Amino acid sequence: MNKLQQRIMTFCGVFIATALSPVVAQAHTGHGSTAGFVNGFTHPIGGLDHILAMVAVGIWAAQMGSAALWIVPLSFVGVMALGGIAGVVALPVPFVEPGIVLSVLVLGVLIAAAVQLPVMASALLVGFLAVFHGYAHGAEMPDTGSGLLYGVGFILATILLHLAGLGLGILAQRFTRSQLIRFAGVAIALSSIYLWVA
Ligand SMILES: [Zn+2]
Repeated sequence: MNKLQQRIMTFCGVFIATALSPVVAQAHTGHGSTAGFVNGFTHPIGGLDHILAMVAVGIWAAQMGSAALWIVPLSFVGVMALGGIAGVVALPVPFVEPGIVLSVLVLGVLIAAAVQLPVMASALLVGFLAVFHGYAHGAEMPDTGSGLLYGVGFILATILLHLAGLGLGILAQRFTRSQLIRFAGVAIALSSIYLWVA
């Protein structure tokens, strides 16, 4: 890699970090109303912690490619839904909020280091992190039809964020040097520090 390429990559890393900073003002939108489709759909998109983790799942899946492309995001969505159910019936899952921040850190590091795991291991890891995203919300959802609609909206938004990450990862690897996307991982990992203190 020559000096110019290094400079371009550093610039892109700084650019991504700066682009994220206005959003950084809102770490988590809190869990106001947990009823209805619209609230469910807008919640993951409104909180930086969910956005970063869910986009990161897609990016990491794109980095690994092949079967991981769909198994990894599917594992996150599936386990998150189960986590939500655990929340509704109030099974004790400790460390929910730190768990969400941890998920952002871990996924950022995986992308930054371009870690390649066997598909099942990566699905298990992502599934473990998804528990925290689902549980935090299921615990506050009313166990009524409106709570169910909240869950459906939440899951749909999560799938869209995964797809955004997949698209980003695939495009970055096709049209730029594949290392470029690793800077997004660095930015994601660093923003977990903000989420932690916020
Ligand atoms: Zn939340």
